[in-house]
Amino acid sequence: MITAIGPVRRALAPTVAGRSETCHVALTFDDGPDPASTPAFLDLLAVHDVRATFFVLGRLLSVNPDLASRIHGDGHELGVHGWDHMTPLVRSRRRMREEMRRTADLIELASGAAPRWYRPPFGVMSRTATLAAADVGLRPVLWTAWGRDWSSRATGPSVINAVRRQPARGGTILLHDADTASAPGSWRSTLEALPELLAGWRSEDLTVGPLRGHGGLFSLWAGP
Ligand SMILES: [Zn+2]
Repeated sequence: MITAIGPVRRALAPTVAGRSETCHVALTFDDGPDPASTPAFLDLLAVHDVRATFFVLGRLLSVNPDLASRIHGDGHELGVHGWDHMTPLVRSRRRMREEMRRTADLIELASGAAPRWYRPPFGVMSRTATLAAADVGLRPVLWTAWGRDWSSRATGPSVINAVRRQPARGGTILLHDADTASAPGSWRSTLEALPELLAGWRSEDLTVGPLRGHGGLFSLWAGP
């Protein structure tokens, strides 16, 4: 479902792609929170003492407020992925702004903290999406590597191989903690891949954490 965005992503500024100049790897999960899958990710990340950024959908957040509170309570960061998973190409700026704000308000209600980041569904960083995010005070962040974990053909090893095609150092990793816009149950491959990915990054002396841990130039980015 995510196609043809590579050229768009490469054309964007490195900071929008989630590239920093540090030994930090930003670990991000999209499309939750889903009670069927997200708790398994939270349990695994707790075992490995790793924090991440969860780009959540307002529609799911509205029916799973306790799960959002747990994500925050476990030390993770929450970002806005939109209200539902509709592509920004079919939304007006006003509609997008309202949906981002509703989602951001739910995040603040659950966590006590206003979100900082926005990642558009399908990575479609349209001008409308960029402007709407700025209206709400959200900074767009895409990714530098992904696990292609949305596919019905994805397996633990295939997710590991896909992520490792790009250097992790200073990068932002896109994975999914829910199958909202993916093949049913595909999150299980993501979960299977995680321990080996985390071990690999540790062996490279990389620090894994949420986007807020991306220092250097990334933290100086002033917005669109
Ligand atoms: Zn998504």
